[in-house]
Amino acid sequence: MRKHSVGLQRSASFLLLLLILAVGQLQTPPHRSRSVSTVFPYIKFSSSKDGMACGYSFGDCKKKNVMFVIAHPDDESMFFSPTINHLSSNGYNLHVLCLSTGNADGMGRIRSDELHRACAVLKVPLKQLKILDHPNLQDGFGQEWSQNLLTKIIDEEVTNHNIHMIITFDGYGVSGHCNHRDVHHGVLKFLQTDSGRNVKAWELASLTIFRKYLGPIDIWMSILSTKGDTSRAVIINEQPLKSFEAMAQHSSQWVWFRKLFVSFSSYTYVNTLQRIKA
Ligand SMILES: [Zn+2]
Repeated sequence: MRKHSVGLQRSASFLLLLLILAVGQLQTPPHRSRSVSTVFPYIKFSSSKDGMACGYSFGDCKKKNVMFVIAHPDDESMFFSPTINHLSSNGYNLHVLCLSTGNADGMGRIRSDELHRACAVLKVPLKQLKILDHPNLQDGFGQEWSQNLLTKIIDEEVTNHNIHMIITFDGYGVSGHCNHRDVHHGVLKFLQTDSGRNVKAWELASLTIFRKYLGPIDIWMSILSTKGDTSRAVIINEQPLKSFEAMAQHSSQWVWFRKLFVSFSSYTYVNTLQRIKA
């Protein structure tokens, strides 16, 4: 028993040390020391022709309007923050479309306010945040969201804001939540019915349970698993502490197990994005 607990303590200390080292590396501003691309010289940031991470190699990405399509307040901080931080610091114009208020426990208004505060931390202009409270798009398991309705809403937002690129969940939806999966299918249907505008879309690759809680170690796993795959881009979080700060704005959700989840979740440190082909 005692041997077991000593082993656990040693493992925990080792993980903590790795975490501190990795966060320290990533927190170092590029102008003071090495940039992320030199820390990880083998990373292929610009694996697509669209210049997904073009701040590192192309100069023509300014003013691109990117819309994150999410299901609930906190999805942006918990899952997409490496990408949001990267695009925000590289001159992209970010929009967030949140398709519900997260009212499963009757806290929709509180959670909407929290999303506003998180977006302020993540430098998403508040006028470019839209949170829907549609009767047919309510938070919860067993609430099937209509693809046609989602397609119509996404189409309107793309038109109104001249969106060039959409980023959303993949078909599994990170946690397997049915609302996340429905959002993916809504975006997919939008792409299939959209003609002429040529909106690009990327999905956040869901990780296996083995990789989900590797924390910063998953940066290397992500790089290795996407090597040579031109349809994928690995985006390392340059400001993981900002992600914690953003998540902390979701006070109603910021309970001990979620703090633990955010600390060890690979999605806090790295995102692998994959092109969605309609
Ligand atoms: Zn969610």
